[in-house]
Amino acid sequence: MTSRGIFHPDFKPEPYWWEAHRPAAGELIDVPRTALVAIVGGGYAGLSTALELAKQGIDAVVLEAGVPGIGASTRNGGAVSGGVNVGKSFSGRINHVDAAREASLLADAADAFSLIERLIAEEGIECHWQRRGRFVGAWTPKHFEYQSRRLASLNADAQSGAFMVPRDRQREEIGSDYYYGGMVVERSASLHPALYYKGLLDACRRRGVAVCAEAPVRRIVPQGASWRVETSRGIVEAGDVVVATNGYTGDVTPALKRRVVPIASHIIATEELPEDLARSLSPKGRTLGDSKRVLCYYRLSPDGRRMLFGGRPRFTAVDPSVSAAALYGYMTDRFPQLRGVRITHGWTGNTAFTLDALPHMGRQDGLHYCLGCNGSGVAMMTYLGWQTARKIARVANYACAFDSLDFPDHPLYSGNPWFLPVIGGYYRLRDAMDRLLA
Ligand SMILES: Cc1cc2nc3c(=O)[nH]c(=O)nc-3n(C[C@H](O)[C@H](O)[C@H](O)COP(=O)(O)OP(=O)(O)OC[C@H]3O[C@@H](n4cnc5c(N)ncnc54)[C@H](O)[C@@H]3O)c2cc1C
Repeated sequence: MTSRGIFHPDFKPEPYWWEAHRPAAGELIDVPRTALVAIVGGGYAGLSTALELAKQGIDAVVLEAGVPGIGASTRNGGAVSGGVNVGKSFSGRINHVDAAREASLLADAADAFSLIERLIAEEGIECHWQRRGRFVGAWTPKHFEYQSRRLASLNADAQSGAFMVPRDRQREEIGSDYYYGGMVVERSASLHPALYYKGLLDACRRRGVAVCAEAPVRRIVPQGASWRVETSRGIVEAGDVVVATNGYTGDVTPALKRRVVPIASHIIATEELPEDLARSLSPKGRTLGDSKRVLCYYRLSPDGRRMLFGGRPRFTAVDPSVSAAALYGYMTDRFPQLRGVRITHGWTGNTAFTLDALPHMGRQDGLHYCLGCNGSGVAMMTYLGWQTARKIARVANYACAFDSLDFPDHPLYSGNPWFLPVIGGYYRLRDAMDRLLA
């Protein structure tokens, strides 16, 4: 099959998820002149902040540069984890912190999972929430050993319900012999990311939150104890400002831009597969992934008929025809039985990695922020928004472990990630070497 032959004639270079909910401006709401809180960025983090503020009786405005949901929040894989990826850097290594801090970070990551599950139930969000666990395939025997050593802390601190699956039983979890066994994390789920986003948006609108589309924030100026937030469609005077721009953080907040590295992630969706074939790929309906540095993540679509396969064959945004061909190769390495199947959708979006591989919330020069999903933010960015709102409303009854940690920058990094293609290539090469020597 030529690389052109992998594309379905109706191939679309946009998220499969947009078939169910396409981000749209709707009726443009005027930018209000005042608000107690102005939120920059209308993804999960921004909406979850606004929603919780509204529940606390605090009026907030969400200022979104594009149409609501245009960022990563309607583009992701929809795998929801509660801690297994905390501290995992873009080099794929876990950045270890001391045991006490690790325990508190994992406990909060577990709370993030509880929060999203509760929010979906309370707001009646129909987003195909399926709590079926995750299988993380070991790329090498050494990775299998490493995963085994992590079980105890994941189970003690994040109630992950994790266990190891040896290679000779891996077919119970995945229709592939590609890995050296792997780890199952039972406390893990999947959802339809764009429908989850729509549910949050509807919940905000039901509570009267002003979500202003096409209102890019251009300048944020302190004014005594408050802020003047200048957008292309008007100026808001706000008591507090929350920056929730993650992988799209720009020059409006230069100190924050220096602290996050935007890294692109890419996904393809296949055409509908025969039911038996689809079911055999993930017999228990788990989300799937692997332990290599530049990891792949994949799952079946909510209706169980398509394979959605993601990874970072490039660390920067590229035309889907480039990333799709590479992802197709990774997919058929794992599932040779999918050779010949065609791709109907291919897309990309930005994640934000931090220099300590941890998500962060806190304050920088007086601005609140929740940033740095490190590739895994469906639950985490929802949670950091919620925590930020509760902090502003002064109703938080404990300090979030991701709050006010030192948020590192680097003297040689000003926010321009020119080095990403080199680093991406280097880590992919290391993955290939590890596998060759395994
Ligand atoms: C391809 C892909 C796959 C992923 N898969 C998973 C997964 O399976 N599981 C998981 O947990 N996570 C996954 N993620 C990560 C997850 O999608 C993100 O962590 C999450 O969506 C981040 O939400 P957010 O609200 O912080 O940012 P975003 O949703 O990116 O929203 C940020 C918003 O800020 C806006 N903005 C930026 N600058 C301005 C400005 N000056 N003024 C106004 N608005 C501005 C942007 O337009 C954007 O809409 C994936 C991400 C990608 C890209």
